[in-house]
Amino acid sequence: MSYNIAVVGFGLTGRLAALELSLAHNVTVYEADDAQALSSAGRVAAAMLAPLAESVLCEQDLALMGLDSISRWPGILAQLDDTVFFQQQGTLVVAHQQDRGDLQSFTERLKPLANHHAQQLSGAHISELEPELSGRFNQGVYLPCEGQIDNQAFYQASFKTLKARGVKFNFGENINCQQLQQSHDYIIDCRGLGAKSAQCKLRGVRGEVIRLHTPEVNLTRPVRLMHPRYPLYIAPKPNHEYVVGATEIESQDNGPATVRSTLELLSAVYTVHSGFAEARIINIQTGLRPAFSDNRPQVKHQGNVISINGLYRHGYLLAPSLVAEAVSLIK
Ligand SMILES: Cc1cc2nc3c(=O)[nH]c(=O)nc-3n(C[C@H](O)[C@H](O)[C@H](O)COP(=O)(O)OP(=O)(O)OC[C@H]3O[C@@H](n4cnc5c(N)ncnc54)[C@H](O)[C@@H]3O)c2cc1C
Repeated sequence: MSYNIAVVGFGLTGRLAALELSLAHNVTVYEADDAQALSSAGRVAAAMLAPLAESVLCEQDLALMGLDSISRWPGILAQLDDTVFFQQQGTLVVAHQQDRGDLQSFTERLKPLANHHAQQLSGAHISELEPELSGRFNQGVYLPCEGQIDNQAFYQASFKTLKARGVKFNFGENINCQQLQQSHDYIIDCRGLGAKSAQCKLRGVRGEVIRLHTPEVNLTRPVRLMHPRYPLYIAPKPNHEYVVGATEIESQDNGPATVRSTLELLSAVYTVHSGFAEARIINIQTGLRPAFSDNRPQVKHQGNVISINGLYRHGYLLAPSLVAEAVSLIK
């Protein structure tokens, strides 16, 4: 049966829900922002798919859901009219000699995920994986199951494909889901932090990231630096771009990045690879990760409203599985 379905919020989960639902239903999208959705956390994100590394911070069931989601991404991207960069070449985790205790602590806190294990690396192994880091680190850990996608390309390509499928768009519409309950069979609430008035336990967790361009650095996979004060990741994107992040601050302030955060991120990235000294700063962005108090995502069904929210720092990691769960509630 084909339904009239409203998807409210055209960020990460809204795009995935619209892609899935528009295969069988009439979908109308409502988004408070414009077509760029610059205020969406998913637009700012590094879009790393890191179930093992994140298992240090989340429960095992979520990390396992992350593995399931990774397996869904290639099928999702294959539906799109334009190619979107996706890779699953693992993550390299390194630490400077004086911080090897942080690396050891991280390794000890990794949770077992089926047959996916971390591999201890010597300096020579690190050079084999990332030749440009040769001689810089004596110890590291390799997380082979991890991946990443190009989120900016995904935002563009998903919009283009949905337009081609005839999905209707309403931008600049700040929607309260109740106002759509009469006119649609189902409403999928994908408002992220914008749903705070309806879900009072939702909070924003501020994150700042810096996008750099440098042809002088050739890292092929995400690199995480264990550091006692400012742990860092570097996520390579196409065209010699790198997303460096991210701060994690308990604040709902979505204002521009601070000097302190910028100094910390840029100082740390330079200690990983001195080629970053000549990198161009494309932008410094801030986003608010929507999170509940337990930092676990929720799919809720009330009347004809299905909400997907609280994806916190695991939006790309978990959204494909959560959206599939939400869509399965439509009978
Ligand atoms: C700095 C940073 C780095 C991150 N890195 C990663 C990472 O590497 N890997 C990972 O898995 N996750 C990462 N995340 C997390 C991920 O981005 C979020 O979990 C995810 O974007 C949440 O998706 P969402 O669709 O719920 O919300 P959003 O992506 O924020 O989208 C919500 C959309 O709803 C719209 N909206 C809000 N209110 C209304 C309304 N009333 N009416 C209509 N529209 C409305 C907003 O304008 C927005 O477009 C990161 C986040 C940040 C901030």
